[in-house]
Amino acid sequence: MKFKELNLSEDILHAVDELGFDEMTEIQEKSIPVLLEGRDVVGRSNTGTGKTAAFGIPAVESITDSERKTVAVLVMCPTRELAMQAEEEIKKFAKYKRTVKTCAVYGGASMETQIRQLKRGVNIVIGTPGRIMDHIRRKTLKLDFLRTVILDEADEMLNMGFREDIEEILSYIPEDRQTVLFSATMPPEILAITEKYQKNPEHIKIKSAGKTVELIDQFYFEVPMGRKTDALKLLLSAYNPSSSMIFCNTKKMVDELTEELAKSGFRVAGLHGDMKQIQRTQVMNGFKSGSNPILVATDVAARGIDVSGIDAVFNYDIPQDNEYYIHRIGRTGRAGRTGTAYTLISGRKQFYALRDISKYINAEIKEMPLPDKDDVILTKKENIIREISELGQVTDRRAYEILDRLASIGIDYREAAARLIGARIKAETENLPEYAARPVRKGRHKGEKTVKVDINIGRIHRIAPNFILGALVDATGMTGKDFGKIDIYDEHTTVEVPEAEYDYILESTNPMKINGHQVEVKLYKGGKNEKISRRNDERPRMEKPSFGKSRKREFVSDYIPNRRKRTKKRH
Ligand code: ADP
Ligand code: MG
Repeated sequence: MKFKELNLSEDILHAVDELGFDEMTEIQEKSIPVLLEGRDVVGRSNTGTGKTAAFGIPAVESITDSERKTVAVLVMCPTRELAMQAEEEIKKFAKYKRTVKTCAVYGGASMETQIRQLKRGVNIVIGTPGRIMDHIRRKTLKLDFLRTVILDEADEMLNMGFREDIEEILSYIPEDRQTVLFSATMPPEILAITEKYQKNPEHIKIKSAGKTVELIDQFYFEVPMGRKTDALKLLLSAYNPSSSMIFCNTKKMVDELTEELAKSGFRVAGLHGDMKQIQRTQVMNGFKSGSNPILVATDVAARGIDVSGIDAVFNYDIPQDNEYYIHRIGRTGRAGRTGTAYTLISGRKQFYALRDISKYINAEIKEMPLPDKDDVILTKKENIIREISELGQVTDRRAYEILDRLASIGIDYREAAARLIGARIKAETENLPEYAARPVRKGRHKGEKTVKVDINIGRIHRIAPNFILGALVDATGMTGKDFGKIDIYDEHTTVEVPEAEYDYILESTNPMKINGHQVEVKLYKGGKNEKISRRNDERPRMEKPSFGKSRKREFVSDYIPNRRKRTKKRH
C-alpha cells in the first residue's frame, strides 16, 4: 500500500514523497492507520523496517494548531544517537507543516540549549528517559497536555535499566492518553508494561527476519581459537569494504580490537556506551563521512543506528541473542540495498550457536574458507592493476623527466614501475598475519570414535526414538545425523554420540525435557542383562518429528539442503 492511499494531509504526503518513500513497509501499513485513530499500539518488528516513520508520521499528522506551544507527543528512545536520529527523521516529515516544532533532549549535551528550545514552545519532544526525567524535575518540561507517549526500542530501554525512569515519566502523563510501544523483541517485562499502562492495545507483529535479512548474503568462517583478530585483518584486507561494522560483545573487546586493528594500519574507530557524548559524535561523524570506514561497536551502542551504504558487517563475537544477530546484520542491506554479513566462529560451541541462529532466522549462512595471505596479495594485485588503468594519462611532464633520469643511471622504465608497485605491495601486506586455516571438525564421521550417553527415561514413560532424537537436536543444535544408535530400555535410553562432542552434548542437555519429563543425560557405563525393549538398528527418521519445537527447527534447517527443499514444497 502506498502512503498516498492514506488519508494524510498534503503537507505530510509532500514531505514523505520528497524523502523518496512511496510504498509503506509492513509495520507502517499496519500501525499508521491505527495510530491515527488514537488507539494504543504494541508494535513488534525488526530493525530497519521503518518504525520511526510508523510512529513519526501519525505524530506529525496529529499536531493541531491549538497545540502550537504545548508538548503533545513524547518519544522515548534508549540512546542519544537514536533520539537524535528519530528527531531528524520526524523533522523531515514535518518539513511543510509549520505548526510542528520538535526538540531532542538527551544526556551529554548542553542542558541550557535544550531548555531554551523547550521554552520557545515545542510540541513533539524526543529524548532519552534519563534526560526527560531531568527536565521534568526542573520543570522545564511540562507534560500536562501530553496526549501521546511513544516508547521506541522499548526492550532496549529496559535492558539499559530505564524501567524506573519510564514508569515515573508515565506517572506524570495524563491518564487519558495514547500509549504506543515499539520493540524488536517482546520479553515478559515489556508485556508487563503493556498490561499496566496501555488500554486495549492493538498488537501488531511483523514476522521476524522478513525483509531485513533477505537481501543480505551471510557467510561464516571457522577460525582456530585465539586467531580471530588475525582472521579479521585478512578479511578486511581481502574484501576491502568501503564501509564496514564489526560487532563485539563487550566494551573491553571493542577497545582491544580497535587498538589492534589501528596498529595494523586500518582506519578504524570504536563505539561503546562508556564513551563521552562528544567522542561518540566524533566517531559517528567520522564513520558517516568515510574518514573512518571501519566501525567497531557493541550491540547497544550500535542499536538502531541508521547509516546507509554499509557494505559489510562482521560478527567478531557471536551475538548473545538471536535477535541481536538480526539487528547486527540489519546494519547492512538497509532499505532495499544488498549487503554481506560475515561471522567468525571458533570451536564447536560457536558452530552450533550459529547453526541455531541460522535456524532461528530461517536463512542460510554459508561456510566460506578464510582467505590466506596469498589470496590477499592476489586481490591487492587486481586492485593495483585497476587503479593504475583508471588513473588516466599523465599530464605532468616531470614524471617522464624523472623516468629518464632513472634510465640514465640504469633503472629502466619497467624496473622503476616495478619498484614502486613492489614497495606498495610490501607496505600493504607485510603486516598481514600468516594464516593456515584449520577447519573445526563437526558432526559424526565414518569411523569416528563414539561413546554412549544414558538418559533416564525409557519405555515405561511411553517415549519413542524420535522423541529422544528431537530433544537432542533441539538442545544441541546438532543434526539428527550426528547421533548414532538409540536403544530404549524400560527405564532408560542410551544414545551413541561422537566422542568429540560428548562434553558439549552434556553441557547443552542438562537440563533437558523430553515429552514433558525433566531428564538427566550422563555417560553410559553399561548395564547387565537388560532387555532392550525396542531395537533400532535403523535410526529413526525425522520426517515426522513428534513435538512442536523440534519440528520447527527441523523445517527451517538450512544445513541439509535436501531437507530444506522438501520442506519448502509442503508449504
Ligand atoms: P527501524 O526503526 O525499524 O530500525 P528506521 O525507522 O530507522 O527503522 O528506518 C530504516 C530506514 O528505512 C531509514 O533510512 C528510513 O528512512 C527508511 N525507510 C523507512 N520507511 C521507508 C519507506 N516506506 N520507504 C523507503 N524507505 C523507508
Ligand atoms: Mg528505530
